[in-house]
Amino acid sequence: FAQFTQVPLPYAYDALEPFVDAQTMEIHYSKHHAGYGSNLNKALKEVGMENSTDLNAIIGNISKYSMTIRNNAGGHYNHTLFWNILTPNKNTKASTELTVAIETTFGSMEAFKTQLTQAAATRFGSGWAWLVVTPENKLVICSTPNQDNPLMDDAPVKGTPILGIDVWEHAYYLKYQNKRGDYLQSIWSIINWDEVSRFYAQTQGK
Ligand code: MN
Repeated sequence: FAQFTQVPLPYAYDALEPFVDAQTMEIHYSKHHAGYGSNLNKALKEVGMENSTDLNAIIGNISKYSMTIRNNAGGHYNHTLFWNILTPNKNTKASTELTVAIETTFGSMEAFKTQLTQAAATRFGSGWAWLVVTPENKLVICSTPNQDNPLMDDAPVKGTPILGIDVWEHAYYLKYQNKRGDYLQSIWSIINWDEVSRFYAQTQGK
């Protein structure tokens, strides 16, 4: 029985070249993400929670847990989402429902991308930028430090993330060095809009 394990990466390590290089992808998935999962399992075992399998329930009550559980539960969740919202497929498309919601909220798809890029670019140090569906069913852009996310009970902006961008240096440094902005420009070429749309539909009860 393995408590929290990695989903298989839905593409090869080199599939997102040239936007994300193969070496970054391999280290990111097989070392960083793998580490969050195994450290989470270890930390849960230490507090007698080796049979807990509801990651959302843990994250939704994260303020009751240790920093070790917080960082690794967030890390495991965030990366699982991240792999799924990236793709080498150039033909993915935002659904009509998601497109309408984005245009209504942000003015246009381009304005949305600019704002999310800005949130990611201005996150100081390590963290994530998110597109979130709030409990009031509003689309909101926000960012979180470290491996925090908007599902955490003490998050300043709460909601269900449907798109997340990893801005830890481990996500881009080998290829882009200090140029986070270049990485952020590239990432729009590999967003899996089919998956983002599917996550959006789930928040709409579909
Ligand atoms: Mn990462």
